[in-house]
Amino acid sequence: MADAAAERPIVCATCGEVAADDEARALARLTWARGTENGHEVWTCARCSREHLRSIEGKLDSAWW
Ligand SMILES: [Zn+2]
Repeated sequence: MADAAAERPIVCATCGEVAADDEARALARLTWARGTENGHEVWTCARCSREHLRSIEGKLDSAWW
């Protein structure tokens, strides 16, 4: 019997990067940010999380000036 949840690829909602194989999915679960949007899982890859964080910090910085 196949485990459908385990077989489902993890896709970055921001850039569309796909963690398709077992190794990539295992890494994604550790390093990607998981959120929930309208009741379903939304993943953001490590790179986009960093970019997102930096843009938030950038906005905070510009608010100070
Ligand atoms: Zn991404």
